[in-house]
Amino acid sequence: MNDNCIFCKIANGIIPSATVYEDDLFRAILDIAPAHKGHVIILPKEHADNLFSLPENVAEKLMPVVKKVAAAVKKTTGCDGINILQNNGTAAGQTVFHLHVHVVPRFEGDGILPVWPQGSYADGEAAELAAKIRAEL
Ligand code: AMP
Ligand code: ZN
Repeated sequence: MNDNCIFCKIANGIIPSATVYEDDLFRAILDIAPAHKGHVIILPKEHADNLFSLPENVAEKLMPVVKKVAAAVKKTTGCDGINILQNNGTAAGQTVFHLHVHVVPRFEGDGILPVWPQGSYADGEAAELAAKIRAEL
């Protein structure tokens, strides 16, 4: 646990929170400034700045928790859809540097999240880039 990290303190119960789920590895809480009411963030109890430093044993347990929480948020809020967001780095909008996954309820036409512009690839460019990414795995 990182003593200077507010999400470490929340995840480990030192700072109280509106908890919706807890197990030995994670705590899921209501986001304090929700995109919509029912917006949840899922925090590992062990500190990791972002996805790149998340231990494998935690990473492999994360998606089942995301799935479970998303289903409960959908039932409770009656939302039409859910966005799962996880920001890494300031360029990607990360503001708290303890990994967390957003579960954001969405309603038809709410327009709360920007849609990115649709780019394109030149001939052969996608295959070349895919090969470069594959080589890093
Ligand atoms: P991100 O921009 O992905 O780093 O998201 C950080 C999120 O944490 C934001 O949605 C904040 O509203 C939320 N947040 C910050 N502090 C707290 C807190 N004390 N309790 C609950 N949510 C928080
Ligand atoms: Zn932390």
